[in-house]
Amino acid sequence: MTDRCNFRCVYCMPKEIFGRDFQYLERGELLTFEEIARLARAFVALGVEKLRVTGGEPLVRRDLERLVALLAGIEGVPEIAMTTNGALLAAKARALKDAGLGRVTVSLDSLDDEVFQAMNDVGFPVARVLEGIEVAAAVGLRPVKVNMVVKRGVNDQSVLSMAEHFRGSGHTLRMIEYMDVGTTNGWRLDEVVPAAEIVRMIDREWPLDPVDPNYRGEVASRYRYRDGAGEIGVIASVTQPFCSDCTRARLSADGELYTCLFASRGHDMRGPLRAGATDEQIAGQLRSIWSRRDDRYSELRSAATPRRAKVEMSHIGG
Ligand code: SAM
Repeated sequence: MTDRCNFRCVYCMPKEIFGRDFQYLERGELLTFEEIARLARAFVALGVEKLRVTGGEPLVRRDLERLVALLAGIEGVPEIAMTTNGALLAAKARALKDAGLGRVTVSLDSLDDEVFQAMNDVGFPVARVLEGIEVAAAVGLRPVKVNMVVKRGVNDQSVLSMAEHFRGSGHTLRMIEYMDVGTTNGWRLDEVVPAAEIVRMIDREWPLDPVDPNYRGEVASRYRYRDGAGEIGVIASVTQPFCSDCTRARLSADGELYTCLFASRGHDMRGPLRAGATDEQIAGQLRSIWSRRDDRYSELRSAATPRRAKVEMSHIGG
């Protein structure tokens, strides 16, 4: 939706890089809602089953509910989801639900204000994100998923309190291994808490059983609390890359289509759209880009081949 965000999470859009002088996209460079919806329609016609609205922070794009309504109007679209930091969610949840949004994933890295504020780096309080989650659930954007990026020495002490808080709440907590995003976040392997360690930590307090994936290519490995208090997910993109199962296409705010979160280059779709390409031509391009993809960034990375790729957070998504 946008390359802008109202947070400066240290692992994602750190202030040193995304400061006052950072050159964000100009308005005219962003795909319009109509252009996004046109591409989405082409994707759905080719078999895409889920559309996720993300960013940057999607809720900083004005009138987002208008886009959601356009997406919801696409024939055959079964699911529309959004990933957000939750800051503006309480105010927007009802309008988004009414427009046709199905579910939300809300990012929250700790319940401890000191830890969370140091991570979002704009002093944003935990309570307002929790309020966003509750309002979203109350208007029917359920079940809410809560994304927690775990960074060793920064918020790993928050894992148990997060698990305890969301157990039995109806929301699903998902812990994500801290990923290398190329040159911007100074990633180090020793700051990654492996998903297996996170699962062990929680299982010691509240025993867990593994659950089969909902569908092939599901990014989170799921576990259920044995006492019936719901489930958690872990996303082991560093220690157990799932490239071969990945079915995600990512469209950046300026219309670049990426076939891998870590790809250094995308494929320009805005050019053809604005040059008057027909629906058939657009569909043909999407089909050809997708069928030629051979990205295996995470697998290559975990095979200990040091390689850096530039990942812009405007297409990391959720
Ligand atoms: N602004 C929205 C949000 O905060 O959810 C949507 C975009 S954000 C880039 C999508 C998700 O990527 C968030 O859950 C965020 O925590 C996660 N993320 C960002 N940088 C990450 C990294 N280095 N490693 C793992 N997850 C990351």
